Amino acid sequence: MTPQTAETIIQNAYVVTFDGAGRIIADGAIVINGGEIVAIGDTSDITREWTTDNRVFAGGKIAIPGLIDAHMHSAQTMMRGLITSLAQVGNLRVPTWREYYVPFEAALRAEDVELSGELAYTSMLRSGTTTFFEAGGPHPERMAAAALSTGIRGSVSLSTMDGGSRIPDSMLMTRDEAVEANVRVVESLASGPGASPRVTGGMSLRQIITCSPGLVVDIHREARKRNVKVHTHLVEGTYEIDHSLEQFGLRPVDYLIDLGVFDETLHCAHSVFLNDADIGQFASRGTSACHCAKGNYAIGHPPALEMWRRGVSIGLGTDGVGSFGTLDMFRVAMLTRIGQQLVHGTPVHNRNDVRAAEPLQMAVNGGARAMGLEKQIGSLEVGKRADIVLVATDSADAAGYSTAEAFLYDCANGSDVHTVIVDGEVVVSDREVLTADVETIARRAAERQKELTAVIA
Ligand SMILES: [Zn+2]
Repeated sequence: MTPQTAETIIQNAYVVTFDGAGRIIADGAIVINGGEIVAIGDTSDITREWTTDNRVFAGGKIAIPGLIDAHMHSAQTMMRGLITSLAQVGNLRVPTWREYYVPFEAALRAEDVELSGELAYTSMLRSGTTTFFEAGGPHPERMAAAALSTGIRGSVSLSTMDGGSRIPDSMLMTRDEAVEANVRVVESLASGPGASPRVTGGMSLRQIITCSPGLVVDIHREARKRNVKVHTHLVEGTYEIDHSLEQFGLRPVDYLIDLGVFDETLHCAHSVFLNDADIGQFASRGTSACHCAKGNYAIGHPPALEMWRRGVSIGLGTDGVGSFGTLDMFRVAMLTRIGQQLVHGTPVHNRNDVRAAEPLQMAVNGGARAMGLEKQIGSLEVGKRADIVLVATDSADAAGYSTAEAFLYDCANGSDVHTVIVDGEVVVSDREVLTADVETIARRAAERQKELTAVIA
């Protein structure tokens, strides 16, 4: 039998597929053609059946699907460290999104957002994130430009508000303007110049306090019509529940059900203060969610594991770097493991409640489902897009690990990421981003940050 020709073959990897059966191939190979995985199996079988001019030797590395950040703010990347410095010297004003993040976003020029996106996406690619779900910020067309040039996969959207107190005028729109602007983002990225299925436009509602009921209904209707998602923040503060009860006589989930928008179109970041009935509504209606482990444990007792186990399409997210910390999804998974043990296991004295693999499964399988992309990404299987991360196992912490799989779940982090492939293209090799000049991006961002610091002092 003559071997078939492939564009790329990754071979001799320890392949953790994250498929439905939990398949692991100790000496595995993945065949890529046209940006898609066309075969996967034992290296010995694959190399007999396939040949290529582009072989990636992955001995000693773990191959996993690219990680998915299911809630992040591209436009806040140049805030890195600013809130930390403020919090060092005094109490932060609350809610922080209104007091700091929105004014910061309002001060950004279009080119700032593109630079901010480049800074974020190269950082994410280097740590193994191949797909992001933007929460909604200013100048989404420039986020898309940065995503296209850096090679990451993602969905961008516009920060959308038509009310609320102390919101800068430049961030407010009328209901009609907001609908029109959201539609424009979706349509221009679907068919405009340079359009790529890798970077799409979605719709956004900042949250129920700043979006009128009419706007919520309109945006949801237009998103459904175009089969895109509506990204929002939900119950990330007690003030939001008080507001909802005062204004509408209902808790937030019930209010959104009442408006007829709580379905698979809606993606709800944070989702911290949920009762048992709320979780049931997520599960039965297909509404998706994102657990933002860096911030959520400062808010309450987020029921992420409970949601995951009850079948909710829940992913993990960094929430960007506005408040603090990292864009490394391995670290978000680790925080989820510790946090969900505290929330779910510790109160009932179940020491081993969170299974080691569950946080990364949420990040990969859950994130794909939450974005409505489970047919394209989220596992290493034939027919999926080739978004593949090779994790090295030569760090100090990897030494002596019983299995590569245990190291992956327990210990691996973004700095172990060696190679990243998105849509079949190698975008990170030997820990270097190939698609962008990371040093120049960082230098330009640092210069611009100095000018922007005063905005949120
Ligand atoms: Zn957010």
